[in-house]
Amino acid sequence: MKILVINTGSSSLKFRLFDMRGLVRLASGLVERIGEARGRALLRYRTAAENRERTVERSGPITDHGRAMEEMLSLLGEAGLLAHAGELAGIGHRVVHGGEVFHRPVRIDTRVLEAIAELAPLAPLHNPVNLVGIRAAMAQAPDVPQVAVFDTAFHQTLPEHAYLYGLPYRLYEEHRVRRYGFHGTSHGFVSRQAAGFLDRPYGSLNIITLHLGNGASGAAIRGGRCVDTSMGMTPLEGLLMGTRSGDLDPAILLYLAREAGMDSDELDDLLNRQSGLRGLCGDNDMRTVIGRAEQGDGRAALALRIFCHRLKKYIGAYSAVLGRVDCLVFTGGIGENAALVREMACRDLENLGFILDRQRNLHRTEGIRPIHDDASPVRILVVPTNEELEIARQVVEVITPSEVQTS
Ligand code: AMP
Repeated sequence: MKILVINTGSSSLKFRLFDMRGLVRLASGLVERIGEARGRALLRYRTAAENRERTVERSGPITDHGRAMEEMLSLLGEAGLLAHAGELAGIGHRVVHGGEVFHRPVRIDTRVLEAIAELAPLAPLHNPVNLVGIRAAMAQAPDVPQVAVFDTAFHQTLPEHAYLYGLPYRLYEEHRVRRYGFHGTSHGFVSRQAAGFLDRPYGSLNIITLHLGNGASGAAIRGGRCVDTSMGMTPLEGLLMGTRSGDLDPAILLYLAREAGMDSDELDDLLNRQSGLRGLCGDNDMRTVIGRAEQGDGRAALALRIFCHRLKKYIGAYSAVLGRVDCLVFTGGIGENAALVREMACRDLENLGFILDRQRNLHRTEGIRPIHDDASPVRILVVPTNEELEIARQVVEVITPSEVQTS
């Protein structure tokens, strides 16, 4: 039997197919430009006979997510990977916001669909689109168990003093204003991977995880339970990101509304799409920012310093929150690949116990790799994230509760 993992965006559908046994990846792909005249569907897989990577691509109009789902199944069918949907033991859906309702992955039924819809005001760009994906998958594979895996669920262990803002308490009661946190699937996955690599029980470790991609967030994890995280009620808070501001004085918004006459849509666009690295230096891609900085571009160098300064502040804050840190994990496109960012973030943190080994940090290998000095009290690891694999693992957990594997 197989597990299909689906990540639905407003105009795209990303998917990955796993063999349930051993959760081996069989194929990955995407359908993009849904709703446009020139849609595109792509499938990558390894042929069993020749054992080599194959890519199949198709283009043509893909009117809606239902058609995208058909296209995906037809590509998988033609490649000989999935004769029919009945070969699927389960389908896992990434859902962005589970609010306070969902603390763990759940099998989807009518009540779950309603609850995800009710949470839409908290994630208006994501939850409705995730629902479209779920409904399309249910229409294509009505007999296959569908499982929702929430980006927020891992952070539901945050204590009240970490998730409440300094606002009137009634705003929490009436409008659910609180910190939820995101990237939970990744923080959970890489922290468990780190414990496995260190050969220590997950529950015995205090870990700081830094997921640094186009969106970026940190988490403080005590004994396998997340106790603080940098993203807030929305993914805007915390670290500097590709196009998002991260932390700022909320009075800046009031000032801009009054002095620059900006309305809520303009402020939304400013904070989510025109800020961060892009706002500071014009580029949101860290590779480009580092490349420019290395060529002597002052503005790009400044954006890089601000990015790393913010990282350092969170490493320090979470060290204080945890009291003792056993392991610091870097993950995400930047965390896994940008040695310079890791080096700048850990610079001068020796007194807090973070001692990086420069050579190990520069050395690139596949998989998990330690980059700390042998004398470092804190283990520092680069751990490649794999949210799809983690979703597949959680699907297996939900559909076969008696076979739950804790790792
Ligand atoms: P993600 O959202 O996890 O795919 O990460 C995307 C970010 O990772 C972008 O800012 C990329 O520029 C960055 N990234 C990917 N590879 C590298 C690299 N080799 N060096 C620096 N940044 C990288």
